[in-house]
Amino acid sequence: MARKLVIIGGDAAGMSAAAQARRLASADELEIVAFERGARTSYAACGLPYLIGGLVETPDRLVARTPEQHRANGIDIRIRHEVTAIDTKASMVTVRDLDKGLDAVEHFDELLIATGATGIAPQWPGIAAEGVLQLRTLDDAAQVERRLDAGARRAVVVGAGYIGLEVAEGLLARGLAVTVIERLDAPMGAVLDTDMAAAVAEAMRAASVDLRLGIAVTGFSVIDGHVTAVQTAAGSVAADLVVIGLGVRANVDLARAAGVKVGEAGGIIVDDHLRTGTPHVWAAGDCVESRHRITGHSVVVALGTHANKQGRAAGTNIAGGDARFGGVLGTAITKFQNLEIGRTGLTEREAAAAGLDAFGVTTEAPNRAHYYPGAQVMNIKIVAERRTGRLLGAQIVGGAGAGKRIDVLATALWNGMTVNEIGGMDLSYAPPFSPVWDPVLLAAGKAALKT
Ligand SMILES: Cc1cc2nc3c(=O)[nH]c(=O)nc-3n(C[C@H](O)[C@H](O)[C@H](O)COP(=O)(O)OP(=O)(O)OC[C@H]3O[C@@H](n4cnc5c(N)ncnc54)[C@H](O)[C@@H]3O)c2cc1C
Repeated sequence: MARKLVIIGGDAAGMSAAAQARRLASADELEIVAFERGARTSYAACGLPYLIGGLVETPDRLVARTPEQHRANGIDIRIRHEVTAIDTKASMVTVRDLDKGLDAVEHFDELLIATGATGIAPQWPGIAAEGVLQLRTLDDAAQVERRLDAGARRAVVVGAGYIGLEVAEGLLARGLAVTVIERLDAPMGAVLDTDMAAAVAEAMRAASVDLRLGIAVTGFSVIDGHVTAVQTAAGSVAADLVVIGLGVRANVDLARAAGVKVGEAGGIIVDDHLRTGTPHVWAAGDCVESRHRITGHSVVVALGTHANKQGRAAGTNIAGGDARFGGVLGTAITKFQNLEIGRTGLTEREAAAAGLDAFGVTTEAPNRAHYYPGAQVMNIKIVAERRTGRLLGAQIVGGAGAGKRIDVLATALWNGMTVNEIGGMDLSYAPPFSPVWDPVLLAAGKAALKT
C-alpha cells in the first residue's frame, strides 16, 4: 500500500517538495496530498512588484504551475483548504474546506509543514483601512490595481527593505508620487552597511522618491474607511495607497500548537535534512530556521531561493533519498531602477555583533574597460577576518552587471576562501564585461593588503 505524504502550503517549498517526491516515488509508493488555503499554487511572489509596476502583463504569468497542472502530475492539491490542526500522535491533520465551511480529517504517514511567513503588521491605528496593504499575494496585487483604477495618485511605502524598494520602483513606473518612510537611517539598513546604502538613497531621491529616513510611523488617518494619510512622529504624509514592507514572521502557530519545536529566531527547528525532530514531520521554506554558514547561528532568512532548495531536499528525503540543505549566507539581490544591489554573508556591523575581529574595505571600480561605451561604476565592500583574511561577507551596489557579481563572492564565501585567494581567481575578462582586473579581484586584492 502507498504511504501518504500530506503537505501544508502550496507554494515554493511545499510544491517543490511535492514535485520532487513525485519524481522519485511513483503513485503506488507515495500518495501526495497538498492543502493550500489560497486559490493559487506555485506563484512567484518575487514577481509581484513587477506585476504592479506593469512589467508583467497579467497575474497568470506569475503562476509557475496551476492546481490542474499539479494534479496532472499526480499531486492531489486541494486549494481553498486550510489545515487548522495537526495531531502528531494520531498522524492526522484537521482541514477546513473554506468554500463549504466543512471540517474533515486526513491521515498522513509523512507530513511536510510549508506554511511560509506573514508580513509584519504592527497594531497601528487605522492599519485595517482600505488602501493599506502588504504585497504578499496575487490578491494583494489585485488590491493595488483597484486602488490605481480608483485614481490613487499618492503612495506611501513603509519600510525601505528589498520589497519596499521594488514596490517604490513599480509605483513610480505607474506614475504615482511615492514617499518611502523608513525607521532606520538608511534604506536597506538591515542588510547593507550604511556606507553602501548611501548610493541607494541617492538613486531613490534622484528618481523623485520622497525618502524620509529615521522616521517612525505611528498610524494612519482614515476617512470613510479609506486611508488618507500616514501619521509619523514627524508629521503626516497624504496617501491614497500605503504598502507596508517591514519584513516577515514565520508561520509557526500550527506547528507550535502540535508540539513541533520552534527556535529562538522564530522558525521551526529543522536539521540539515529538514526533519523537525517530531517523527515523520518535516518542514521547509520561510517557516523554518536555517543554519547561517558563517556564524553557525540559527536564522530565519525568508527567501524563495532557500524555500525551493529546502522543498526539493525535503521531497527527496521523504521519497527515501538523501539530500542535505547546506545552510544560508543571506545572499540576496535586488535593484532600484538602474542601480543593482547584492549582498552575501555578514555586513561589517553583523560581523562585529557576532564577535568577529573583522574589517571592511570598499572599492570603486568600473563594470567595463574604460574605453568601452557605457562604463558605469560599482562599489564593492569586502568584509574579512583580520587575522586570517577569511572572507566574511560582501556587498555590491552599482550599475549594469554589478549585482550578479555577488554570486562570485557568495561562492568564495561558501567555500571558506580568503581574500588573498579570491584576488588571484581566474575570472573572465573582455572589454564589454569588465576591466582586465575584474572589480571582484580588485576589491579582494585591496582587502588582502589589510590582512
Ligand atoms: C513581494 C515579494 C518579493 C519577493 N522577492 C523575492 C526575491 O526576489 N528573491 C527571493 O529569493 N525571495 C523573494 N521573496 C520571498 C519568497 O517569495 C518567499 O521566500 C517564498 O515564497 C517562500 O516560499 P514558502 O513556500 O516557504 O512560503 P509561501 O510562498 O508563503 O507559501 C506558503 C503557503 O502556505 C499556505 N498556508 C499557510 N498556512 C496554511 C494552512 N494552515 N493551511 C493551508 N495552507 C496554508 C499559504 O497560503 C501560502 O500559499 C519575495 C516575497 C515577496 C512577498
